[in-house]
Amino acid sequence: MRVAKGNTSGSASAKGGDNFTGEVFIDSVFPAAEGVMISSVFFAPGSRTHWHSHENGQILMVARGRGLVVNREGDSVEITAGDVVHAGPGEVHWHGGSRESFMIHTAVSLGNTSWFGEVSNDDYLKESK
Ligand code: MN
Repeated sequence: MRVAKGNTSGSASAKGGDNFTGEVFIDSVFPAAEGVMISSVFFAPGSRTHWHSHENGQILMVARGRGLVVNREGDSVEITAGDVVHAGPGEVHWHGGSRESFMIHTAVSLGNTSWFGEVSNDDYLKESK
């Protein structure tokens, strides 16, 4: 069993790397162990992940702000504080802030993540209100 007491390490937030568009910051809650990784993620307005999937799925719990989650089947849902999303195993999707609001979520990611390239500005603007 692991118990996190928040980010008490004082470590700097990690900037989202090559698999993100825009200003994204990630605090590790739990590093990956036994196929489970938990992170707190801040998406600035307009920022988002690239297309990706999680081997055994992912649960997103929205803490603050407003954003969206979109899958390859065309489901596109605005998400706000309190919302919970379950992406199934292998379900290709992306998530991020809305055009004019940041979004903070806790992500529980299960298994390895596979990445499939960026969400174009055109595609983003089509989905984001
Ligand atoms: Mn995801």
